[in-house]
Amino acid sequence: MEELWYHVDVNSAFLSWSAAHEIWIKGGDLDLRTVPSVIGGSEKDRHGIVLAKSGPAARFGIRTGETLVEARNRCPGLIIAPPDYDLYVQCSKALMELLGRYSHHIHQYSIDEAFCAMDGTKNLWGNPVAFAQQIGAEIRSTLGFTVNIGVSDNKLLAKMASGFQKPDKVHTLFKGEIPKKMWPLPVEDLFWVGRAASRKLRTLGIRTIGDLAAADRGLMKQHLKKHGEFIWDYANGRDTSPFLQELPENKGYGNSMTVPMDVTDADTARQVILSLTETVCARLRADGMKAGCVGISITDRDFRHASRQRTLVSATHTTLEMYRAACLIFEDLWDLAPIRQMGVHTSRVTHDTAYQYNLFDMDRYEKYARLDEAIDGIRSRYGEDSVMRAVFLGGNLPHMGGGIDKAKRTGMTKPLPYCPWE
Ligand SMILES: [Mg+2]
Repeated sequence: MEELWYHVDVNSAFLSWSAAHEIWIKGGDLDLRTVPSVIGGSEKDRHGIVLAKSGPAARFGIRTGETLVEARNRCPGLIIAPPDYDLYVQCSKALMELLGRYSHHIHQYSIDEAFCAMDGTKNLWGNPVAFAQQIGAEIRSTLGFTVNIGVSDNKLLAKMASGFQKPDKVHTLFKGEIPKKMWPLPVEDLFWVGRAASRKLRTLGIRTIGDLAAADRGLMKQHLKKHGEFIWDYANGRDTSPFLQELPENKGYGNSMTVPMDVTDADTARQVILSLTETVCARLRADGMKAGCVGISITDRDFRHASRQRTLVSATHTTLEMYRAACLIFEDLWDLAPIRQMGVHTSRVTHDTAYQYNLFDMDRYEKYARLDEAIDGIRSRYGEDSVMRAVFLGGNLPHMGGGIDKAKRTGMTKPLPYCPWE
């Protein structure tokens, strides 16, 4: 059976959801979407960045991810509304429920994006493009916000298509349309072509997606390794990457954090990882669990997302063990683009059974386990901040990172992809 996918993506999700709630539920008369406005956290703490912007704000040159101070400088009259993560989770759920009425399988990719399997629905719903328009209209009239829908024969192309002109549009990008609709675009428009990859491609004379598609796959592998092969496949419309694959039911413990400033050096990044790992491992220990797999996710300043995981020699809940494994992944994964958000996730969580001693680290493990136990004890009696690793003293990173808002744990970050080559 031919595959058919919709990729449904909410337009300026946080801003639209806040605006719709204000008008529809609270009966307000100002639609944030019609004035220069942004959703942003407090200007005092690390959430002080633009999370979403209205169309009129975009016309002032305001960009997602820049600081609220920068945004205010561009537009002194700017309205800054705080994020309401509980509301966003509700809106996201309502959207997924609606989509679930028309698709036999929904793969929610992030809080405001989902892939809908639509194969075999032609007899039921008719022309897939007309039907996508109908769903878009239903979302608009019943939920009060707009979406873009990309229609294609694979997920990657559907996602690409939903990113074409916005808002409130349906676009197709079937395989046969690739030369016309995708190849003329700059190579940076391709997913996971970050700054480092873009620089390398440009020095090789590759400027458009078409240039990349026409390049030699072996050459791409030589310059960009596995990543080079993925993006070459993307450029040719082949969805071979693990990024869009669905995770098996994830029972992992994880945490992510938006960092106060762009992280551009590995030392700071490792501190963020340590801070996140501390929290994740404390939760595992508190629940009497261990994780057999740890992963890192990185979102850069351009909101490009990358993640990878690796299997641990044996399941653990020891902060330092987990931290070391996470750092190894980080070194592999980071392409030097300034980091805005990092996550540490675990999976293959099992009950705290006997640690499989590795001959060489037996002593160390026992020491670390006792240390963690002692620290957990102190924190439970005197509070989380009663003891911290010296590396966090005097810095501006929290020593137990993440857990800032529960929405982040319930879909605010993209799921960790399954990595078949691991
Ligand atoms: Mg969106």
